[in-house]
Amino acid sequence: MSDCLFCGIVNGEIDANIVADDDHWVAFRDINPQAPTHILVIPKKHVATVNNLKAEDEVLVGELVRAAGQIANDEGIAEEGYRLVLNTNAGAGQSVFHIHLHLLGGRPLSWPAG
Ligand code: 5GP
Ligand code: ZN
Repeated sequence: MSDCLFCGIVNGEIDANIVADDDHWVAFRDINPQAPTHILVIPKKHVATVNNLKAEDEVLVGELVRAAGQIANDEGIAEEGYRLVLNTNAGAGQSVFHIHLHLLGGRPLSWPAG
């Protein structure tokens, strides 16, 4: 989608600190990290919110989660623990409307989230 920030990162028009990618997703460091490790894993395909996922996206969502787990391992936080978050719509604080899985870790994470 032409006016989407994260599509701009996918197609290389906008710089990002990319840590991993494959044919279907890209993972990069959040510009405003909320934890020592704060990485966003996004599909290369534009999907605005979790509400817009279709049955055909089920494998893609699985790939995002598995990628996040592998990156957590690479970041050295897999054993101590980490959090995966998909904020959905304004009430949950979604500010970029291209789905992104937050990978947060490297510090104690309280629960419930605010
Ligand atoms: P949301 O609030 O939608 O769940 O998360 C959006 C995230 O994208 C925020 O954590 C924000 O810091 C991050 N972000 C916004 N703009 C950029 C950008 O241009 N580059 C990177 N790397 N992260 C961004
Ligand atoms: Zn997009």
